[in-house]
Amino acid sequence: MHIITKSVTVKLFSLCKQRIATRTMVVSTQFLINDSTYSFLKDLGLKETNLGVFDGTWKGSGQVIQSICPSNGKVIAEVKQGNVSDYQSCVEVSKFAWSIWAELPAPRRGEIVRQIGDALRNKLVPLGKLVSIEMGKILPEGIGEVQEYIDICDYAVGLSRTLAGAIYPSERPGHVLLEKWNPLGVVGVISAFNFPIAVYGWNSAIAMVCGDTVLWKGAETTPLVSIATTKIVADVLEKNNLPGAVAALCCGGADIGKAMAADEKIKLLSFTGSTHIGQQVGVEVQKRFGKHLLELGGNNAIIVADDADLNMVVQAALFACVGTAGQRCTTTRRLILHKKVLDKPGFFVEPTIVSGLKHDNPLVHNECFAPIVYVLKAESVQEAISWNNEVPQGLSSSIFTQSIENIFEWIGPKGSDCGIVNVNIPTSGAEIGGAFGGEKATGGGRESGSDAWKQYMRRSTITINHSKELPLAQGIKFE
Ligand code: NAD
Repeated sequence: MHIITKSVTVKLFSLCKQRIATRTMVVSTQFLINDSTYSFLKDLGLKETNLGVFDGTWKGSGQVIQSICPSNGKVIAEVKQGNVSDYQSCVEVSKFAWSIWAELPAPRRGEIVRQIGDALRNKLVPLGKLVSIEMGKILPEGIGEVQEYIDICDYAVGLSRTLAGAIYPSERPGHVLLEKWNPLGVVGVISAFNFPIAVYGWNSAIAMVCGDTVLWKGAETTPLVSIATTKIVADVLEKNNLPGAVAALCCGGADIGKAMAADEKIKLLSFTGSTHIGQQVGVEVQKRFGKHLLELGGNNAIIVADDADLNMVVQAALFACVGTAGQRCTTTRRLILHKKVLDKPGFFVEPTIVSGLKHDNPLVHNECFAPIVYVLKAESVQEAISWNNEVPQGLSSSIFTQSIENIFEWIGPKGSDCGIVNVNIPTSGAEIGGAFGGEKATGGGRESGSDAWKQYMRRSTITINHSKELPLAQGIKFE
């Protein structure tokens, strides 16, 4: 079985870069955008060469790069990326846009996000097709990613009418003690290639209703999705006479990402990507005491107890291991099987399974971002849980079992230490209604439910003295 992954293809592509670059420079008619089969690309407003920076106007002074379709190695179209000076002007304009955006009442901001959701509905299929040909995931998953952004818009619209504060009883006579939440300012979003739109959607829809403006840098290998998405959002902003830099974009590489991490104008940096890079980003943001939201690598296990329904396990594990070419942060990378259920011939795509390694082998403890799964033989569910927890990452985990004791052990204080803890469903995929993210080296992740918006705002504890006197205790008892 051949599994084409974006990173493998990009590496292969770099070997023959010169040849392809020469060919495409001479015969740009061979770009997929000029092939009638791919006419949807022009419907998304894309051209042969696209400007990769948006702050109300489209520009780009950086390198011209070619976006490659990983399934056939062909150039889809070109992008003129941003350089650091483009980024700096982008963040200034986004900061200015914030002064207008933050003044809008939250339900009005929600109305704009509702319109963005509708605009995405109109482009669901072409945008999903673009995700598929540029990232390399299958079409239903490409469309599914856009649908996730639409669902998050709906969710954020609801939030925009429920961004509540609190009133506490003050100990001091004639005083009111309030908790109030205010927008942060410019929120930076750096996203990974494997979810080129949904991660941005999550961050931007919630940040926007909270009153923040958003400056996005997507992955270098999926710039066309960033550009097409930003065009859709920008169109809605323009129709509402709002500044485009509410949703700014700066396509580029690590130089732009580093500038964002170091920049005090970025009040929250939401980074999605590998643990290795996320650690550098986290440290850089911390150096300036900035806020960060880290969505990093996973190393996810499914535990199969001796009483598991094996038909369920096989169907679930197959997609969880090799779906999306093994390139989800929630992809199953370790199958921990009770010894009684180990021999299951023919269940798996042969090249993706590695057995015989010890549970604590360094390979098993690393996230290899490819459809590879390690099969480990455990003596008991307790041993399996300890192996689940011994890796540095803590994103997603599953147990397959029919036993109520196993389930409650798994979800209890001595159970899985991951952010996502599943029972009889695989590790990959998550609903927008719950928090998403992981513990330990996975970086923390996003809140959800009634707390989803709090990461995108700052809290003030406010005390108002509405009497004419200062109480005696003032300055003595209170910190
Ligand atoms: P990556 O870490 O290579 O790149 C992620 C982003 O960081 C890209 O936009 C890249 O340009 C940027 N970047 C690179 N160097 C930088 C630097 N020094 N400073 C700032 N930004 C920099 O990751 P990838 O290969 O694109 O994506 C795969 C990884 O992302 C996997 O580890 C996967 O598990 C993880 N991921 C996690 C989640 C989650 O929600 N936890 C979701 C998707 C992907």
